[in-house]
Amino acid sequence: MQLTLDLTGRHVLVVGRPDRARHAVAAVRADGAVVESRPADDAARHLRALLAGAGPRLLHLVVWVEGPGEARVAIAASAAALEVPLATAPATDPSPHGHVTLVGGGPGAPELLTVAGRAALAAADVVLHDRLGPGDRVAELAPGAELVDVGKTPGHHAVPQREIEALLVEHAVRGRRVVRLKGGDSFVFGRGGEEVAACRRAGVPVTVVPGVTSAIAVPEEAGIPVTHREVSRAFTVLSGHVPFSDDELRHLVGLGGTIVVLMGVANLPQTAAGLRRHGMSVDMPMAVLESGFTDRSRRTVTTVGEVDALIGTFRSPAVIVIGEVVRVADAGLDEVADLVAFAAPRPVGSEGSRAGARAGAAASRAGAAASAADARVTA
Ligand code: SAH
Repeated sequence: MQLTLDLTGRHVLVVGRPDRARHAVAAVRADGAVVESRPADDAARHLRALLAGAGPRLLHLVVWVEGPGEARVAIAASAAALEVPLATAPATDPSPHGHVTLVGGGPGAPELLTVAGRAALAAADVVLHDRLGPGDRVAELAPGAELVDVGKTPGHHAVPQREIEALLVEHAVRGRRVVRLKGGDSFVFGRGGEEVAACRRAGVPVTVVPGVTSAIAVPEEAGIPVTHREVSRAFTVLSGHVPFSDDELRHLVGLGGTIVVLMGVANLPQTAAGLRRHGMSVDMPMAVLESGFTDRSRRTVTTVGEVDALIGTFRSPAVIVIGEVVRVADAGLDEVADLVAFAAPRPVGSEGSRAGARAGAAASRAGAAASAADARVTA
């Protein structure tokens, strides 16, 4: 504010709503003034009351920030009549540069982070990230950003969801470029919708960068297309976090398409038993794909009837695929080949801890496919 007045000890009325007058109030206070701030209509009434002789005329300056045009005219008239100068100051922008970008980080390989996601990370002042996705590469992707790990591990929520939302808003209101980095896509079991809503409620600008979801990419890494002509023309992605109801199981079996279960390791026995109970063939192939796009990546192919023998050998995170498409993975392949470019090939024959998977599925066609595919697909 360009003022030639010495404001030390002077009484100043700042006109505008509190959030908009914030900077003007701070500026005159810093100059030593005694500050009072009122919204425009209230300020106009107050000045009329002073003119009418109500209360001491202890006022040296009026600073207009914002309000309706009529209020400004009335305030200018009252200030003139009171012989008090009227100055103008800019309103506070509620978030001068701050905004939140929800970035879907993809299933883990940094190459599977989108160009837009990468750009948002590179420009970020602060990144709130999870355990899944490219979380371990975040320092490299977002140099210069403050990194906050709000990651959840199964059964343990590191930072409660409402607190994450509050943090996003808090950083953005302070004018920072905030990236919320999640595994896969933010809107697939990622609570992204809640975070967008929280930002909107707080008036914080928010955008979303879509990500490559593990629901499709992890099967893809294992050579499994979620749809395939004449095999499956639907895929249903479910959270297996809570056991499926009989109604859900009945519909899933009835639909006849591919079933993709995320967060489904703990309830896998109930899922398999439930599908069998509702009429799914015990020969229906099932793939359990653990830690896709990492060097711990492990693929097991079994069937809905035989998976019970393997329970306890699977570790989260895993994508479970149930359906005939699992067989497509190896169709037409007679030699070891990599399908997804970003999955570093494991040497042929190094099948690691997969003996159980083979034993469990030995009798099935799918089992034979599993042994052939272990070396081929797993990175
Ligand atoms: N928003 C994420 C999913 C979050 S739910 C997405 O779109 O991918 C978390 C679940 O996703 C995990 O329990 C697991 O089922 C699955 N998942 C995510 N990344 C994975 C990976 N790299 N390998 C295997 N499963 C993964």
